[in-house]
Amino acid sequence: MMENHNPRSGLKKYFMACSVYFVFMMFSIIYFFYCVQVNAVNTAEKTIEGHVKRQRDHFEKILDIHYNYLDGMARYIGTSEDLLSEANMTLLQSVIFEENSFERMAIIDRDGLSTYEDGIQKDVGGREYFQKAMKGQRTLSDPIDSKVDGNRRVIMAVPVFQGEVVSGVLGGSYDVGFLSHLLFEDLYDGAGYTMIVMSSGSVISCDKEEELPGDPDLFFRRYGTMKKKGDRRAGDLKADFAAGKGGCAKFRTPEGDSYLVYEPLSSNGWMLCYVIPAAKVWEDFSFIRYYEVILAGVLLGGLAVLAVYIWKVKTREERALMQYAQTDALTGAVNKDSTQKQIDQWLGGGQRTGVQAFLMLDIDNFKTVNDEYGHGAGDEALRQIGRVLAQEFREHDIVGRIGGDEFVVLMKNMAEEEMAIARVENLCRRIREISVKGIPGNILSSSVGVAYSPSHGNTYEELYLCADKALYETKKRGRDGYTVYSGEETI
Ligand code: GH3
Ligand code: MG
Repeated sequence: MMENHNPRSGLKKYFMACSVYFVFMMFSIIYFFYCVQVNAVNTAEKTIEGHVKRQRDHFEKILDIHYNYLDGMARYIGTSEDLLSEANMTLLQSVIFEENSFERMAIIDRDGLSTYEDGIQKDVGGREYFQKAMKGQRTLSDPIDSKVDGNRRVIMAVPVFQGEVVSGVLGGSYDVGFLSHLLFEDLYDGAGYTMIVMSSGSVISCDKEEELPGDPDLFFRRYGTMKKKGDRRAGDLKADFAAGKGGCAKFRTPEGDSYLVYEPLSSNGWMLCYVIPAAKVWEDFSFIRYYEVILAGVLLGGLAVLAVYIWKVKTREERALMQYAQTDALTGAVNKDSTQKQIDQWLGGGQRTGVQAFLMLDIDNFKTVNDEYGHGAGDEALRQIGRVLAQEFREHDIVGRIGGDEFVVLMKNMAEEEMAIARVENLCRRIREISVKGIPGNILSSSVGVAYSPSHGNTYEELYLCADKALYETKKRGRDGYTVYSGEETI
């Protein structure tokens, strides 16, 4: 017997194969996306590191230019016997009016007495920058709370030579924060901020006022709770600063992740720090995510279409196979087993309304037809009877072949019993009209027995018994006609 396991398991296999492929594809795509993201993050981080390195070089160059500028002045000042000569003081005064340069200038004699451009004098003999410059070095001081105007700034100092001897120092107070701010303001639409930080963590300058932590430890606490690139822990930030090593760290802020990129400067162990929200850095790579979403959408959409297509094809195949398994090959009617199943299923179901007419039809003297005109002609007659049955009844009626020349029809949901009779009469007429090659005309005829549900029963078995009796009655009465079961049939 042909069961329906095959089409189902075929469908299952399709879905299994598709699911495995789907999972494989999802993993591949996720892995691919992951690799792209990791690569993009690395590239983004390298990009900012590159920016900061370049700006650091630029910063150093500008410092150098300012040192050279001071050196040039110091050479001029050294040519006078008297360091505080009128010409030298005029030179000092002229410099501070230049934009973006020194805010205050001073000539310091070898005893540490500093004379500013406005004539004010202070003793700076104890200052480290003075002592270093007196040894012939260019120096940049750590931030000093200026004795003059109370602002925090650094002093840039160079030695003044008279011949081979250092006879004094030329110093200028200098706003390095302003300089670093200028460098970065073009980057990422000015979304970041810059700091110059001493190796101790003390911030010399910061171009974002509220970010300026006064306490050195606060700097490491604030930026030191970061998760560092390459999973290095936060404490390493302090170590990097102490060792004068540059790097890149990521840290969380209430507004999202940010990067801190730091590069050592050549002076005093200072670090040039640049802080930029990660989202801003990511903007340059956001197109990747955009295309990832599109790609994922296209793939998932394609997959959904494929799944629906397979489902449809398989359902169609399954239905065709099931139908094939339930169909009698010669007549196209439902085969015997399925006829009984389908009729019982319908009668037991809840879609019934009105009357269900059960017909049993048997070809008259078919044995003789076979004997006289051959089995092939008999087959052709059966084929044509199958065709007539298919034409005479509605698609949802059940037409089955339950024996050699025996058919059963269940006419569903008739408004009343009598309505079946006209159809039966028509059927008998159509069978009489069948013409088969090799069989003389008007030889074929059929006998029909009719039973009704619910009047005569509610199962195939019950209706079959009644219709069979009615059919027998028709045969008994001379064939080629029909009988409706009445209960008075004699068998
Ligand atoms: P009755 O009028 O009493 O029905 O007489 P009958 O000759 O038709 O007798 P019955 O219905 O008992 O015989 C059925 C015959 O149908 C028997 C067999 O020769 C023929 N038959 C059964 N199956 C097939 C088939 O598949 N092909 C052909 N050609 N003939 C078949
Ligand atoms: Mg017969």
